[in-house]
Amino acid sequence: MSLIDRLAAVVGPGNVLIGSDLAPYLEEERGLFHGAALAAVRPGSTAEVAEVVKACAEAGIAMVPQGGNTGLCGGGVPPEHGRAVVISTERLTRIRHVDAVDFTLTAEAGCVLASLQQAAGQAGCLFPLSLGAEGSCRIGGNISTNAGGTNVLRYGATRDLVLGLEVVLPDGRVWNGLKRLRKDNTGYALHHLFIGAEGTLGIVTAAVLKLFPAVAERQTALVALPDPDAALALLGRARRASGDCVTACELMPRIGLDLGLTHVDGLRDPFAARHPWYLLLELSSSRPGGLREALEGILADALVDGSALDAVLAESHEQRSALWRLRESIPEAQKREGGSIKHDVSVATSRVPEMIRRCTEAVERALPGVRVVAFGHLGDGNTHFNLTQPVGGDKQAFLAEWGRMNRIVHDIVAGMDGSISAEHGIGRLKVDEMLHYKPAVDIDLMRRLKSAIDPSGLMNPGKIIPPRIT
Ligand SMILES: Cc1cc2nc3c(=O)[nH]c(=O)nc-3n(C[C@H](O)[C@H](O)[C@H](O)COP(=O)(O)OP(=O)(O)OC[C@H]3O[C@@H](n4cnc5c(N)ncnc54)[C@H](O)[C@@H]3O)c2cc1C
Repeated sequence: MSLIDRLAAVVGPGNVLIGSDLAPYLEEERGLFHGAALAAVRPGSTAEVAEVVKACAEAGIAMVPQGGNTGLCGGGVPPEHGRAVVISTERLTRIRHVDAVDFTLTAEAGCVLASLQQAAGQAGCLFPLSLGAEGSCRIGGNISTNAGGTNVLRYGATRDLVLGLEVVLPDGRVWNGLKRLRKDNTGYALHHLFIGAEGTLGIVTAAVLKLFPAVAERQTALVALPDPDAALALLGRARRASGDCVTACELMPRIGLDLGLTHVDGLRDPFAARHPWYLLLELSSSRPGGLREALEGILADALVDGSALDAVLAESHEQRSALWRLRESIPEAQKREGGSIKHDVSVATSRVPEMIRRCTEAVERALPGVRVVAFGHLGDGNTHFNLTQPVGGDKQAFLAEWGRMNRIVHDIVAGMDGSISAEHGIGRLKVDEMLHYKPAVDIDLMRRLKSAIDPSGLMNPGKIIPPRIT
């Protein structure tokens, strides 16, 4: 029996996609990576995933797990050689259990993130993971990229939100680690191995996630500031004065707003004057009352001592959405402005202003006319230090500078003990960069783990850690 026939016998012929049905599984949204595959398979249960993996392993065919395919590093795109099968989780969409006493939710890997937020809400709880792609990314993908998003400052990244996992290992065995325990010190925390592994160690089929009490009050402000140092000072002030209720803290430069106002319909500058920097600050609490007064006090103090230049508070849900759209439109607006070179870096939060200053000076010196669009999750020390092509410049010539710009920015970040991939992962995009910067001991340990769990190297090969060249 051919592999395709065997897979069809497991999942049903309608769930083995070939020809034009296969095309959407072979590239990612930004079009940076294109691959080839024998088929995309859509198993409907953990048992089916296990059978699919066994069949591929026995045939010596590479396996590429795929969720919502919104990843930004090409981790879910199959290799060009085409001796691979994409294993999509899109039919694994069952919420197995919501427990408002334990504050846990157990769901299958293909559940779309927004559907889990809704399910938590219906139980009077909050699942706090939130990111721009939440309407299409899937929880297995979030777990496998250890996604960050806008609420990390308060609730942690995906790693901090996972209590247990169920994983199909590269040989087809099922590892059941679906525990709802807050405490379990019985040796190595195996589930952490698969979080952020980008599908290189196995296929996550289900997870136990942490829930929190639902938000009862939320207050949002956009604050105009002279520089990122003032934003950092405001964050510290807001955390202390609000009883640590700051949930989101997004830094934006003026050029980020300008690009959005130029290219994205329906955006409006809430201030009469132009300002150099902005901070989107959001406070939330499960206890109603008090946050509005706290935020007004924080902003009044900052305006009086001159560290803030102006501020607006959202008076309604619509106004809050409008403020968030200013932040969320930046990547789209950058795309429409022409070529952009991206960096997803982190340093200690206290060093973000220094990092932005040093990297800006260095890239402007190296490439006159380049426009720095540095924005992101200030509270997590995570900046999307993106570069937009010079006005009127040639897009291809600008994009040809990708490697040189990466080296300049990543050298500075690495020199500051930072990370060259804060939240998007490594995938295919950053394999060489990671090898360049990670110490040899780290790389050796990662390779040993990979070959211990996936000795035949068939699980998402070429992602994160390439095999040793002997
Ligand atoms: C508009 C937009 C905004 C974004 N904002 C953020 C943000 O704020 N923060 C952030 O961190 N990311 C962000 N991202 C990136 C992306 O959404 C996340 O990385 C997301 O977690 C990927 O989920 P996915 O289901 O789309 O995974 P995919 O893209 O399908 O896969 C990503 C990786 O995980 C592996 N994988 C997927 N499912 C499984 C599984 N079940 N088991 C094992 N491996 C698996 C794949 O092989 C691949 O290596 C954004 C992307 C977009 C398009």
